[in-house]
Amino acid sequence: MELRTLLHEILEEVRPLQQQGQVAQYIPPLALVPRSKLGLAVVTLDGEVHAVGDAEEPFSTQSISKVFTLTLAFQQLGEELWQRVGREPSGTAFNSLVQLESERGIPRNPFINAGAHVVDDIVLSRYAEPRTALLDFVRCRAANGAIADVAAVAEAERETGFRNAALANFLKSFGNLERTVDEVLAYYFFHCSLAMSCVDLARSFAFLAHRGICPWTRERLLTPSQTKRINALLLTCGTYDAAGDFAYEVGIPAKSGVGGGIVGIIPDRLAIAVWSPALNAKGNSLAGTAALERFTTRSGLSVF
Ligand code: GLN
Repeated sequence: MELRTLLHEILEEVRPLQQQGQVAQYIPPLALVPRSKLGLAVVTLDGEVHAVGDAEEPFSTQSISKVFTLTLAFQQLGEELWQRVGREPSGTAFNSLVQLESERGIPRNPFINAGAHVVDDIVLSRYAEPRTALLDFVRCRAANGAIADVAAVAEAERETGFRNAALANFLKSFGNLERTVDEVLAYYFFHCSLAMSCVDLARSFAFLAHRGICPWTRERLLTPSQTKRINALLLTCGTYDAAGDFAYEVGIPAKSGVGGGIVGIIPDRLAIAVWSPALNAKGNSLAGTAALERFTTRSGLSVF
């Protein structure tokens, strides 16, 4: 079947599911996004783009941005990174505080919020212009110079980010942050506020499907071995405490965000991004997960 036809079919099949789940309420601007938004985009490594529904409309990337900051930190620190953050699924919510105290300030993985704060601390220490470094990175990967952060979203998150503040303070008390708590949180809210479309996101993940080389600029961003490792983390930790279920249902490395986006890759083939704002209980897009399940099942493409 034509890829585009398959994407259209999937979109119509999952549309009724958009009535289920909850649009994130704890970040006020996200609560205003209509649950009817639905987009799906596939980008193949030769640059073909298949976009259906609202796939060109930018939305809040939220935790998906943690993959970009992790790449920046990994480029600088390599394996040394793992002295400060673990590589195990947490089995707890992305913003949970419980493990951080008993595990003495070493977050379970780079995709829960505490892990992302440590990664951000590294980016802040290693890059002279950390915001520019990130914006340049996503704009080049997505081949879209218009990608930007949304200050109002970052500010709303700062005002309501009590858990993130608690996590960052815990990390600081255990000596796992070099920069100040405020600097780390400001950078974290900045990158969570990046607005990107499904097409942007699928393009920007394509290097992870291409052994670490950006298919458009031909730049090597990570070694094949490092790329394998980031993809392993996406599979085991990219959808938080639903990662086991997601691997069973969908079977690809992927990252979700509370803006309702999920981006995944199939090595040597393609990157796929979906957007539907209503989330399941674990904070992953409900209809988005269903769309990806249908895609991998019907196309027969997954990592397994
Ligand atoms: N900015 C969000 C938060 O810190 C990101 C969480 C997410 O997308 N899962 O709560």
